[in-house]
Amino acid sequence: MTMAESNTPGAALRDQFGRSIEYLRISVTDRCNFRCLYCMPESGLQWLPKSDILSYEEIAEVVRQLAPLGLRRLRITGGEPTIRPQIHELVRMLRAVGEITDIALSTNGVRLPQLAPLLREAGLDRVNMSVDSLRAERIAEIARRNLAFDPVTSALAAEHAGLGPIKLNMVVMRGINDDEIEDMARLTLEHPWHVRFIELMPVGDMRALTWSHVLPSDELLARLAAIAPLQPSDGPPRGNGPAAYYQWPDARGTIGVITPMTHTYCASCNRVRLTADGRLRTCLFGDHEVDLREPLRAGERLEPHFRRALAEKPKEHELLQMKVGGLRALSQVGG
Ligand code: SAM
Ligand code: SF4
Repeated sequence: MTMAESNTPGAALRDQFGRSIEYLRISVTDRCNFRCLYCMPESGLQWLPKSDILSYEEIAEVVRQLAPLGLRRLRITGGEPTIRPQIHELVRMLRAVGEITDIALSTNGVRLPQLAPLLREAGLDRVNMSVDSLRAERIAEIARRNLAFDPVTSALAAEHAGLGPIKLNMVVMRGINDDEIEDMARLTLEHPWHVRFIELMPVGDMRALTWSHVLPSDELLARLAAIAPLQPSDGPPRGNGPAAYYQWPDARGTIGVITPMTHTYCASCNRVRLTADGRLRTCLFGDHEVDLREPLRAGERLEPHFRRALAEKPKEHELLQMKVGGLRALSQVGG
């Protein structure tokens, strides 16, 4: 497809490198009940004013306008999406958009035991949970909040509600939680869960962290392979993401690595992000954003704005070029 064809009104959305855009991550809030070391400062945060945040109806309208242009899969994220009131009502509205085939939610899991059945009933397909530790005290240290929360109980609640395949994401920090990678991986022996290890990225509030805390995925995989041989695996049946998957013999689940720092996956990037205040971001890093809120509230068609955003989607992210100063935290842009 030529650039001219890809800019034809009504044609499927493609960026200037031919990547089609079928996947949207929707941040519904910049707020959170955690203050993870690698994501947010402990205090002094400036939250977005409520009037700047898109309503559920506005979010659904963006999805309705993107769907005929090729959008198929959604992820609801934040901040912590489960602290926005009646989040299941947004799920219900998005489920009603006929073209959408998959709706997932990213959460820290604290509220899953209460919300999982409600979310499932409203039409959510599955959840990803952040699990940086299995030890209560350490969870509180990393999250800098003590919410007396057990991640395995939350994952089981999601599984029992029918929100599988369950993916558990651990941001690995050398010297802080990397002594638990083996225990996290062992969950895959007993449960059909997909445990994914994410390389720490230098975004957001990293005052407590440095490059020495990054554990390259090759080193992590070597440690796990020393326990039992790791075979490449296809991973979960409904994955969208950039993880590479492996499996221990006879394990019920898989082990994945997400490697923004050591191996780029920009070439196959099919995702864009909608921030809580209504900006379309075409790359997680850098500052490529197009405002949709003003045109949306003025009743304009959004397609020209989508196309403008896509024309600016960069070829690869700027972390790789070590341009890392001043990047917005993932909680602000919908990580
Ligand atoms: N609150 C939800 C959660 O924690 O899953 C959803 C939003 S959170 C910003 C989305 C993902 O971004 C989580 O898996 C989190 O661990 C990851 N993340 C945030 N900051 C990160 C960083 N500096 N490096 C790597 N991953 C990060
Ligand atoms: Fe909150 Fe998720 Fe950021 Fe942790 S990673 S502070 S849970 S938004």
